[in-house]
Amino acid sequence: MATDRIPLSVPTLGDREASYLLQCVEENWVASKGRFVSEFERLFASIHSRPEAVSTSSGTAALHLACLELGLGPGDEVLVPAMTFAATANAVMYTGATPVFVDLDPLTFGMDPERAAAAVTPRTRAILVVHLYGHPTDMAAISSLAADHGLPVIEDATEALGSLHRGEPCGTIGDFGCFSFNGNKVITAGGGGMVVARDPARLSHIRHLSLQSRVPGTAEYLHDEVGFNYVLSNLQAAVGLAQLERLDEFVARRREIAARYASALAQVPDLAFPLEAEWARSNYWLMSVLVAPGPGKRTRERVMADLASAGIEARPFFQPLPALAPYGKGAEPFPVAVELHARGISIPSSASLTSEQQGRVIDVLLGSA
Ligand SMILES: *Cc1c(COP(=O)(O)O)cnc(C)c1O
Repeated sequence: MATDRIPLSVPTLGDREASYLLQCVEENWVASKGRFVSEFERLFASIHSRPEAVSTSSGTAALHLACLELGLGPGDEVLVPAMTFAATANAVMYTGATPVFVDLDPLTFGMDPERAAAAVTPRTRAILVVHLYGHPTDMAAISSLAADHGLPVIEDATEALGSLHRGEPCGTIGDFGCFSFNGNKVITAGGGGMVVARDPARLSHIRHLSLQSRVPGTAEYLHDEVGFNYVLSNLQAAVGLAQLERLDEFVARRREIAARYASALAQVPDLAFPLEAEWARSNYWLMSVLVAPGPGKRTRERVMADLASAGIEARPFFQPLPALAPYGKGAEPFPVAVELHARGISIPSSASLTSEQQGRVIDVLLGSA
């Protein structure tokens, strides 16, 4: 009887990562200057049809740099989806600006464009969208809202590397795209992030800020503004590059896993496997089920407990942020975020999930394990 524990989302590491890491040691380049940093950035930029990409120490740092680049500060408002990982809202708050939460579109799990339009005020300075769990936000509607008000758009694409919105990579539709390579994302660098931008001058300034704002071209330590140490190490970039070279394989495998969940769960009366919009291609970073409300149905807690006792890692959806102490404000209700949180469970989604392991997850979800 198989009893190995099935994790939610773990990296697939192999010989290529080991060989690149060994090269760092042999070449004596482990810190922020090193060829893997530039090779990782170059490949990342080319995948995103941009001349350049700037690597960062984390996805949170990438988001913070994009917010800094917009000159956000106290009194400024930024539209942020009501349900996301806390780092999205924190990046705004680090600048002193205020996240103004917007409810979600129940189909994409992204910011609802109509609710976003209603939340714009004279103090709104930017729109920060999140491609939650890898499914693209409806950017057509968000982009036109942004254009109407002259607002820049930051894409928190930390969960959406390899996802496409109408054929275009997530992170390249707005003004800035921010990515993460922490341990449970679609690829990992053992921690790290990346920024791409529409305007190369703004991206250069982001790089400058990430390097302590030290003025180049002189041996003197001259700094022209308050900068940050937000750079990626060569060790991290070595792992990141090896992983990025396998991105298509990882996304293809996750999509295969999603297709099997979708067909296996299609007939279960009390669970729904969320579907992809026809214009979207999700990387299926985290797959999920939505537990149906109603008498006689299993509760979310019951399904999570059944998964846990079968040795299967599952997580509730992110909290609606306006409910939490650091963010809570206003009387605005967020019915979609609240309902998704009440019903949503993230289920094992790793590219390395075996067919046998997925079978075990499905058996529990079917209620037959
Ligand atoms: C992972 C994540 C981040 C932060 O990335 P780190 O690299 O962990 O700092 C930000 N936003 C969202 C939505 C995320 O899922």
